Amino acid sequence: MSRFMIRKVAVLGAGVMGAQIAAHCASADVPVILFDLPAKEGPPNGIAAKSLAGLGKLDPAPFATRDRAQHVEPADYGSDLARLGECDLVIEAIAERMDWKLDLYARVAPHLKPGAVFASNTSGLSIQALAAGMPPDRRPRFCGIHFFNPPRYMPLVELIPAAETEPAMLDGLETWLTTRLGKNIVRARDTPNFVANRVGVFSILAVMHHTARLGLAFDEVDLLTGPRIGRPKSATFRTADVVGLDTVAHVIDTMQATLADDPWSSHFRTPEWLQVLIARGALGQKSGAGIYRKD
Ligand code: NAD
Repeated sequence: MSRFMIRKVAVLGAGVMGAQIAAHCASADVPVILFDLPAKEGPPNGIAAKSLAGLGKLDPAPFATRDRAQHVEPADYGSDLARLGECDLVIEAIAERMDWKLDLYARVAPHLKPGAVFASNTSGLSIQALAAGMPPDRRPRFCGIHFFNPPRYMPLVELIPAAETEPAMLDGLETWLTTRLGKNIVRARDTPNFVANRVGVFSILAVMHHTARLGLAFDEVDLLTGPRIGRPKSATFRTADVVGLDTVAHVIDTMQATLADDPWSSHFRTPEWLQVLIARGALGQKSGAGIYRKD
């Protein structure tokens, strides 16, 4: 077994998570190629372009050693795909849709370097089903790599193996994430939304449903569940805006689709008011308006 070495990383998706994961790798002196859809095909809210433009503005991470801008090269899935062959680790961070992820895997798989690690930053889609989108010889080097938002500052990363994931690869990846990126790793099983989102989204949903039922105001609940009890940044509705309301809804969809037998399954539905905001393109911080800062 050869030594586990990551000399260059590719990140697929320059949205909220991908752009910041790329910036974090770059600030740890790991060169990154950051792939996204060309602007004309991009998401309607122009998230990708905004995130790329924002890369230079991020505060230095604790591990910063030099200007990360030198280390992040933007690329798209057209003529740049062959450059995936330069990368030892590919982190997929596109929107939380199984069909979109699988389409992309089929496009990129032929261009991967032999032995490259391919990991999905999915919030909770089945790692086994995602692994099945890779050719069989690639599956031993496939796993879930769930960073938390904001990925440059949140130490937690869940690592999730699929059935065929090589244990030695997972060990190597864990060591690299710990020593090079400064992360604390939790190994999670491949269950819907893994550990943190399974309980986290459950509690966000409970607060959302009860806020509506009791006729409370969002900012009132945020204040009472946040700063007033010494949790300045963990208030529910602000957190949902930071995550992205469409992403919150996708994670709820995963719960709804996969946990029908759960005794709480009737709670696993996106509140109507949230659906209205999403339909309007008010997706939270990334689109400039969400639960807060409405148009
Ligand atoms: P985002 O909406 O900010 O960005 C999504 C990216 O996917 C964009 O760059 C977009 O161009 C790209 N994209 C959309 N459709 C595509 C397609 N069909 N093919 C290729 N690229 C496409 O999303 P995000 O918040 O960065 O989330 C990315 C992934 O990370 C998701 O799987 C999400 O569940 C997960 N995640 C998100 C958070 C969070 O707090 N936002 C936290 C942890 C994990």
